[in-house]
Amino acid sequence: MTTLFISDLHLAGERPQIIAQFLDLLRGEARAAEALYILGDLFEAWLGDDAVLPDLAPVIDGLRALSDSGVPLFVMAGNRDFLMGEGFAAMTGARLLDDPTPIDLYGTPTLLMHGDTLCTDDLAYQQVRAQVRDPAWIAHALSMSIEERIETARRLRQQSQAHTRSTAEAIMDVNPDAVAQAFREHGVERLIHGHTHRPGVHHTVVDGRTVERIVLGDWYSQASLLRCTAEGCELTP
Ligand code: MN
Repeated sequence: MTTLFISDLHLAGERPQIIAQFLDLLRGEARAAEALYILGDLFEAWLGDDAVLPDLAPVIDGLRALSDSGVPLFVMAGNRDFLMGEGFAAMTGARLLDDPTPIDLYGTPTLLMHGDTLCTDDLAYQQVRAQVRDPAWIAHALSMSIEERIETARRLRQQSQAHTRSTAEAIMDVNPDAVAQAFREHGVERLIHGHTHRPGVHHTVVDGRTVERIVLGDWYSQASLLRCTAEGCELTP
């Protein structure tokens, strides 16, 4: 049996071919999987569980069909879709995961994260993150009209794009100490995360133990998928 991990699909109406690819996965390979884990940024933006954009309705239906077929579906919110909540879980049959969540993956203690909390060198980003994850900010955002939420999401995205353009690549990658701390704190041998859009498998030594960090890829130009079995994990592409 295979457990599938994906992240950073950034599904949006403007990218119908990526939505189609994701629906293919849900109807195809995922049906035979032991579980599907989505580790954040499934959506380019999520305006709240009460405000599903029409373009995204087929995605909700596809997720629902997968969980109805009996495949466990686990979803973690990312920095784009952090307004996802129990309403989303009820619509799709997904179980929401905290960030981070430790799991036992075929006997290997494994930590699941979106990945943005590891980017501790990016102080400006972490400041914005703290602001928009504040329960008072979230309550305020969810009290807005849909039009106001669309405008707020657009403004946040513009700020984020300007920040990305003006910030060095290295600052926006994970911080090695934050990574080591995550391994240490949770006592795991493997970490799976996304967010940085730098897919790869890294082996490092933490406190004398060799550990594995797998970074999932984004779906901007192609589907990126991690398949794990009792024998190990394989990242494609
Ligand atoms: Mn992200």
